[in-house]
Amino acid sequence: MDHLMNTYRRLPITFERGEGVWLWDTDGNKYLDALAGIAVTVLGHTNPVVTTAIQQQATKLLHTSNLYQIKNQMTLGDTLCRLTGLDQVFFCNSGAEAVEAALKLTRLYGHKKGIEFPQVVVMQNSFHGRTLATIAAGGNKKVQAGFEPLFPGFIRSPFNDIPALENIAENNNMIAAVLLEPVQGESGIQVPDEDYLTQVRALCDKNGWLMVLDEVQSGMGRTGTLFAYQAKNILPDILTVAKGLANGVPIGACLAKENVGALFQPGNHGSTFGGNPLACAAALATLKEMETLKLWENAKEQGNNLLKGLKEKLKGNPNVVAIRGKGLMIGIELDRACRDILNLGLAKRLLFSVTNETVIRLLPPLIINSEQVQMIIDILPEIIKEWHKSQQQ
Ligand SMILES: *Cc1c(COP(=O)(O)O)cnc(C)c1O
Repeated sequence: MDHLMNTYRRLPITFERGEGVWLWDTDGNKYLDALAGIAVTVLGHTNPVVTTAIQQQATKLLHTSNLYQIKNQMTLGDTLCRLTGLDQVFFCNSGAEAVEAALKLTRLYGHKKGIEFPQVVVMQNSFHGRTLATIAAGGNKKVQAGFEPLFPGFIRSPFNDIPALENIAENNNMIAAVLLEPVQGESGIQVPDEDYLTQVRALCDKNGWLMVLDEVQSGMGRTGTLFAYQAKNILPDILTVAKGLANGVPIGACLAKENVGALFQPGNHGSTFGGNPLACAAALATLKEMETLKLWENAKEQGNNLLKGLKEKLKGNPNVVAIRGKGLMIGIELDRACRDILNLGLAKRLLFSVTNETVIRLLPPLIINSEQVQMIIDILPEIIKEWHKSQQQ
């Protein structure tokens, strides 16, 4: 640890092995993983289909670079376009990089329209990654602190507020795009009104703005459809995907409609590792398994059960301010900062995270079954009760 930069407040625990929803620490203790490595291991740990795909690809070829054609990358591009309704993909290695590619496309789009300084409307309390451009796009002052001057070209608007966007449309003719999360993750699971995304789409159409959806966290089946926008009758112009895409192997993707994706020409953008044979093999296996099992349906069903069960159990709890969620993206907002609750979770062998200081966040793997959901419903309120007691001492 002495030689690691101090970027994370890590819990004093190391995991050695995982299977499905379970993780084992180095002392052999077994934990129910209701976080899935922050929405990454969507199929659970060591899914056999993904493991086999990785093993087989590793015996053949790991990497060649994008100076050559990569068969797995082309197949994955076809698969993602079939599944999303979009036309073109750029592959990279993380969520932030996928958003960076999206932002570069919005700049090309704006310039093509004759806008000298193209702006992107971004949301309050949003999160899009930790690179210089994505911290500027994100709406968290703490994430930006110390890294000024911030990357320019963003206009902030409140989330889930259509009149605010209309107001921007009336007063600013330099907008190229709107960037938003369909459900805000890092800021504590903020679910917008039912018709919000549809109205954003309509506003984008009316004003000639690109609609850029960051589904790095909400995508890959988590909210009950493969991508959250698919619950509505809309298509974004640009879509960013990462986290769960290869069940733990690093990969990111920026998808776009043909007219937008075609703005990138050789020399405009690139990535040495992006879309390499190994990562693409893992992503192909993950998508195949997700489609075979229709896991977004399980996410919807178990998510509803989990949300309902937690609401019932936590009803009247004086510390609980709100319980929100969509599918298996669930937040329990407490009335004060609650990071220390994580240790109580460890003691009860349940893994979750705390985000935005006060929100317990659950992002379990999409394979979770009714019995495991019931375990969370039984254990988590106990943990909150104990945490409440510890607060009064
Ligand atoms: C996690 C996340 C990112 C950043 O992804 P990294 O892989 O950590 O770079 C971007 N956008 C959203 C919505 C995220 O949840």
